[in-house]
Amino acid sequence: MIRSKIFQRLFVLMTLAIFVSCSTKQDQAEEQTSADSVAVAAPVSARPVHWGYDGEDGPANWASLSPVYALCGEGKGQSPINIVKSQAKSSATWSFDYKTTSLRIAHTEHMDDILDNGHTIQVTVDEGSTFTFGDKTYSLIQFHFHTPSEHMIDGKNLPMEMHLVHQSDDKSLAVVSVLFEEGKEENPNLAKMIANFPAAKGESNHITDVNLELKVNMPDHNEAFHYVGSLTTPPCSESVQWLVLGKFRKASAAQIKAFSDRIGPNNRPVQALNERAVESGDITQGSK
Ligand SMILES: [Zn+2]
Repeated sequence: MIRSKIFQRLFVLMTLAIFVSCSTKQDQAEEQTSADSVAVAAPVSARPVHWGYDGEDGPANWASLSPVYALCGEGKGQSPINIVKSQAKSSATWSFDYKTTSLRIAHTEHMDDILDNGHTIQVTVDEGSTFTFGDKTYSLIQFHFHTPSEHMIDGKNLPMEMHLVHQSDDKSLAVVSVLFEEGKEENPNLAKMIANFPAAKGESNHITDVNLELKVNMPDHNEAFHYVGSLTTPPCSESVQWLVLGKFRKASAAQIKAFSDRIGPNNRPVQALNERAVESGDITQGSK
């Protein structure tokens, strides 16, 4: 009788201990995912595993670096893709309403959360800029760059690609992709960024008296290509709405080189389209 009471107490104590240790772990995990991380199907690892763009850490091996990166290898809805214009089916329209932002710029080196994708120059924007797709509105969070481009248009890469990352209230993601080609004149927004590049990887600057007019890099009216894809960096989470603009923006050769020297090459190769369709449509500026 006494023995069974002792066992009972031991059992209660052990259950308590397990419960406490589990909830502590959960608290830590919640802290690590932070407020601006997003809901993804894959579990979030305590520490992101290092990845890169060449050799053993390169795109072909991302899936084997960590179980959390499995979708990078197994996913059937991955990005980027090659967009074949003639095969895109006509669809709906989209709109964006971009405002002015102060320049909060970082040369990211490690992935702290999903919205800070590592290995790029990234600008975190002030609140207020939105993108509307169907009846859903997404807020612009940040934009960043890849050199050369990740998406291909009719089998061709461009020298640079900008990803404008948006998130809706339900945490789902939409990325607008703007491709850059070489032109004679400097792009004014890129000039401001280059002048304020952080000194080194892992550093960031917040320059409150330099403003970017976000509309500058967006055409008033444009054709766009839509498909459902993924993040182009580990963990390659899927169900991301992609809108790739069909009209290119221009940057000078020196500007493209300035970005490329800092971050390139940081482009994931194109992925199989599989069962997905690409739709074409119009994107317009202004609130809906
Ligand atoms: Zn990107």
